[in-house]
Amino acid sequence: MNFCSDCGQPVELRSPSGDSHRRYVCVQCGAVHYMNPRVLLSCIAYQGDRVLAGRRAQAPDAGKWGIPSGFLEQHESLEQAAVRETFEETGVKINPARLELYSIFSLPAISQVYVVFRTELEETPQLRAGPECQEVRLIQMQEIERQDLAFVITDIDSPKILFQELKSQSFSIHKWCIDTHGVRPKETRAYRLNLAR
Ligand SMILES: [Zn+2]
Repeated sequence: MNFCSDCGQPVELRSPSGDSHRRYVCVQCGAVHYMNPRVLLSCIAYQGDRVLAGRRAQAPDAGKWGIPSGFLEQHESLEQAAVRETFEETGVKINPARLELYSIFSLPAISQVYVVFRTELEETPQLRAGPECQEVRLIQMQEIERQDLAFVITDIDSPKILFQELKSQSFSIHKWCIDTHGVRPKETRAYRLNLAR
């Protein structure tokens, strides 16, 4: 950040009094510009042990398979973002009331928080690849080599865990902390769900 978005004058990095972090502060109007992590969303929409996935048309990881993902927009709920991204990338309409929390990642190195939902598809969906995808399919774990999976599900062992959970239909909520992209998790924990039927 070089200029104040309030008045257009230059900003400088300094610690406002009583603040533990350095901030961009406007030299003219004194506005403090806070920069906070971004929230990334993904949706695991599944039918049996098959997962709705798209082959990415764009970098990063063009040509590889990934689940619908994108950043949370202003004034949008997590569920709305998951529904929107899934529809934009695959043409599949998800019922937001049927989204279950699957995992939460802290990614401090890149200042992001990553939230993953899962939802069971009620019927075989009509698929339509959006502009971000070359191709959309319901895929099984064994169909796709690990190296063909896009960044969103390869940083960790989560594809294996996910497909095991789909097979057993016994799910956990996963909490991860990952130092950087491609590095083993610093901390993981899984909370087994024991849902009353
Ligand atoms: Zn200003």
